[in-house]
Amino acid sequence: MPGSADEPFLLTPGPLTTSDETKRAMLRDWGSRDAAFIALTAHVRARLVALAGATGTHECVPIQGSGTFAVEAMLGTFVPKDGRVLVLVNGAYGRRVVRICETIGRAAIALETAEDVPPDPQAVADRLDADDAITHVVAVYCETTSGILNPIEEIAKVTAAAGRRLLIDAMSAFGALPVDAGAMPFEALAASANKCLEGVPGLGFVVAERDALDRAGGNAHSLALDLHDQWRAMTGNGQWRFTPPTHVIAALDRALDQLEAEGGPPARLARYSHNRDILVEGMRGMGIETLLTADLQAPIIVTFLEPEDARFDFETFHDKVRAEGYALYPGKLTQAASFRIGCIGDLREEEMRGALDAIRRSLGAMGVDIHAQGSGP
Ligand SMILES: *Cc1c(COP(=O)(O)O)cnc(C)c1O
Repeated sequence: MPGSADEPFLLTPGPLTTSDETKRAMLRDWGSRDAAFIALTAHVRARLVALAGATGTHECVPIQGSGTFAVEAMLGTFVPKDGRVLVLVNGAYGRRVVRICETIGRAAIALETAEDVPPDPQAVADRLDADDAITHVVAVYCETTSGILNPIEEIAKVTAAAGRRLLIDAMSAFGALPVDAGAMPFEALAASANKCLEGVPGLGFVVAERDALDRAGGNAHSLALDLHDQWRAMTGNGQWRFTPPTHVIAALDRALDQLEAEGGPPARLARYSHNRDILVEGMRGMGIETLLTADLQAPIIVTFLEPEDARFDFETFHDKVRAEGYALYPGKLTQAASFRIGCIGDLREEEMRGALDAIRRSLGAMGVDIHAQGSGP
């Protein structure tokens, strides 16, 4: 059971704390050619398309590996070799998209804003207007670096209006933040099992327009990451091309049952939002401020600015809080000294309050004067 020094609650953006029920779904072995496993794969794929509001127009192609494998597969499969990508960058995951494009030989231009500033849809429209050669826009829905919510619907609208195609990194959004292929047209969207879906790691997936998948033959830079090929195999005999992560898929199916029972993404978003509100309020009470203003803060992961007290040291702080059964996450900002606390996973008010108590005791033990910190709004 999580909640001890040995097995802390993971207040991290994934892997994260999963339910016992999800873990128990892994207590059997599946053969990759078993009819039951083939049916399970088809069932999970259909459920993921439905979650994207894309039944009928899009298909789900799962891919073995972490989320980055899915992002790289999406870029390589849908951007033709002579394509040109406009990447909206305001954090490490946007920068990673640029790096992938450079590595696999796709022309990419970054439209960058600061880590606490969302991309401006008008600036995207202007850029598309000025450069006819751009074929695709790539946007990160929730930039997990800071936890900022990017305006994905507006970006989808200006991209479609300019007749270009949108690829979305929805890794830390899918399953909680709204995704609807009707309201935010996208060619493809990448996500993974182990974030807001609360599955276990080892599986990424891409939800893509069927027509785009059909056209994409021969684009990919890689055999293993060719989603067109993976899709063809799966729609043929229903099997994966290479060894599937059987237990991960079984766990994801069970996790999707729980998402449904909870009330779907809107209910999950409400639970995460409540987690975030408790966390932010509790931290402010200790004088620790968030990087982002409330309107920009997604309920996924919160970046806190380190207390301006010489006695604060993140490693010591992290170890103390962890010893009480809660794992926090280091900052990833290039600018300010910060750390992050996740709101996602099988966690509720009780765990958030427990984490706050552990944080308060740890700061106290370090001699950080929590009451002398900034006043907060
Ligand atoms: C987690 C995440 C990824 C993928 O990271 P992996 O470590 O490869 O699973 C990509 N983009 C975003 C926005 C993420 O949060």
